[in-house]
Amino acid sequence: MFNLVIFGAPGSGKGTQSQKLIDRYGLTHISTGDVLRSQIAAGTELGKIADSYISKGCLIPDELMVDILAQEIDRLRPTSNGFIFDGFPRTIPQAEALKKMLEQRGEEVHSVIGLEVADEELMERLIKRGEQSGRSDDNPETIGNRLKVYHSTTSPLRDYYTKEGKYTPIHGEGHVDEIFNNIVNAIDGSPCVKAI
Ligand code: AMP
Repeated sequence: MFNLVIFGAPGSGKGTQSQKLIDRYGLTHISTGDVLRSQIAAGTELGKIADSYISKGCLIPDELMVDILAQEIDRLRPTSNGFIFDGFPRTIPQAEALKKMLEQRGEEVHSVIGLEVADEELMERLIKRGEQSGRSDDNPETIGNRLKVYHSTTSPLRDYYTKEGKYTPIHGEGHVDEIFNNIVNAIDGSPCVKAI
């Protein structure tokens, strides 16, 4: 299995690049945001809890998020060649939990691709996305909070994965295909890709 984390701020292009990476490498996409939004749409208890955090631009508590992720991994693992984790981990405790969770299953995170985009560009993209997607958290106030949370709580993961020798920064501004090519070059340089 080849397990990849696609990392970056909200609006950095994780979802867009994930789709292209899935097509190229046959990986299984786990987007924790998508999982939560489907729970909200289905009106479940979990969805109600998630909505109360998401609509404010806050993170769902780690313990709950880790349980959700473990369930997704176990549900999808039998038919998967490897995962692309999109939107997880978002905190250091989540990264530690992911490491443990994968270790217990004889797996590991092989590579972390970090899409690096300036805040002004992120803000612009998210406001534009909100006009089309109708996402309740793509409005200026919530976006501001999401970016704050990203800088305070999520961005330390760059150092965490750099220390593990797994982090590759990718300039996330410009043409989608150009960014994708840079990601592919980074992944294909990894020895683990041969195991796919
Ligand atoms: P996303 O679609 O990845 O931008 O996620 C949308 C929202 O879902 C985030 O702003 C958080 O409120 C919540 N969320 C998604 N993934 C996580 C996570 N790993 N930890 C905590 N909250 C999350």
